[in-house]
Amino acid sequence: MPEREKRSFPVVIAGAGIGGLTAALALNDAGYEVCVLEKASELREVGAGLQLSPNACSVLERLGVLDELLPHAVLPEGISIRSGHSGKLLGTVPLGGDIAERYGLPYLVIHRADLQATLFEHACSRKGIDIRLDAAVSDIKINDQGQITCLYETSDDVNAVGTRALIGADGVWSKVRRFVPGHNTPKFTGQAAYRATIPAEGLPSYVLNRTGLWLGPNAHVVHYPISGGSSLNIVVLIAENWTEQDWSAPADADMVHAALDGWSPELLSLIEKSPKWLKWALCGVDANGPWRHGQVALLGDAAHGMLPYAAQGGAMAIEDAFVLARTFKAQNGDANTAFAIYEAERKDRVARVQALARRNASIYHMGAPLALARDTVMRMMPPKKFIDQMDWIYRWTATASRST
Ligand SMILES: Cc1cc2nc3c(=O)[nH]c(=O)nc-3n(C[C@H](O)[C@H](O)[C@H](O)COP(=O)(O)OP(=O)(O)OC[C@H]3O[C@@H](n4cnc5c(N)ncnc54)[C@H](O)[C@@H]3O)c2cc1C
Repeated sequence: MPEREKRSFPVVIAGAGIGGLTAALALNDAGYEVCVLEKASELREVGAGLQLSPNACSVLERLGVLDELLPHAVLPEGISIRSGHSGKLLGTVPLGGDIAERYGLPYLVIHRADLQATLFEHACSRKGIDIRLDAAVSDIKINDQGQITCLYETSDDVNAVGTRALIGADGVWSKVRRFVPGHNTPKFTGQAAYRATIPAEGLPSYVLNRTGLWLGPNAHVVHYPISGGSSLNIVVLIAENWTEQDWSAPADADMVHAALDGWSPELLSLIEKSPKWLKWALCGVDANGPWRHGQVALLGDAAHGMLPYAAQGGAMAIEDAFVLARTFKAQNGDANTAFAIYEAERKDRVARVQALARRNASIYHMGAPLALARDTVMRMMPPKKFIDQMDWIYRWTATASRST
């Protein structure tokens, strides 16, 4: 075996994404030394917007990261839901002050790269967190005593670290998931997300202080400000049978224009501002499969990649990371028991969120005549009711984090 070095760590995490870095910080807070292996050789500015509801902010606050995120984030006043074709307002979800008053925490929107960079800087500054970039986990071996050897490939070598607890936070195309027998595999949904970012300068203020959600048959559009309000993130979700494992594939702007043909001129004036689009294929991993096997556990997208229709993909990874660290500490580092408790505590909640995202997908993309009924219901809905419906998700906190 090509093991130049095989240092052993109490915990090894595959993936320095949102969940992996959060887990590293939470485990470090719990007193454990952690090694994080990340396949990318640098954490570049890839991806675009993520929404962080109060449940996610509660963990970030607890880990001491929230205040540093705020300058990069925007706290939208609300979500304006509109008909894609007529542009008419269907409903308003109050965020901003309403959320802060209700939960004592913000609802924020942020560039994924800003969130990852802030978590990364925090992790690098901690004694006891060893982050190795250009380190793609490729295989693991477990001996009869439960000692795990985790092999990883660098650009010019194969290396290894030892551990008694391995966490697969390596995203929807997880390699670690192979070591969880009976695991579910990612399924493409026949939809793709096209994304663009445009400069905020010159855009009307009602676009820059709110999230916009536009609904139409077989497509919807979400936009919100990111990068401290200096850019607008636009995502167009359309039915398309395209399947590639890429978060940032070059995309054809004509596909976006064709999908939104006949939509509101107000929206199209935003869409036309971006000549450059990137896309990723939407796929999900059913949360009801196993998330762990012995001393190997999965978290975030590796365990339960989900559609972005409930805006909870990042938040669920962050919650997972915190609960996993808490149970690991409570079980004095006994990974077998801790991971079983973690899975039992998280699964129902995440599966429920995943089901909500699927339900939203069919509601958002309804065609006539169902869309007419949907629009009528939305128009009659008091703003507070929109938040009441999300309360079971948003009210989760890191301090009282028994999942509902
Ligand atoms: C490059 C990228 C861009 C994204 N852009 C968006 C976006 O614009 N909007 C959005 O809503 N969501 C985006 N996402 C997804 C979003 O970050 C996740 O859905 C969510 O945050 C859950 O986080 P996670 O930690 O489970 O997974 P991720 O944040 O996806 O992190 C997984 C990490 O594991 C690393 N990894 C993968 N395989 C290995 C391996 N074999 N060994 C070591 N490391 C490995 C990846 O490089 C990545 O850093 C993006 C994800 C990635 C990786």
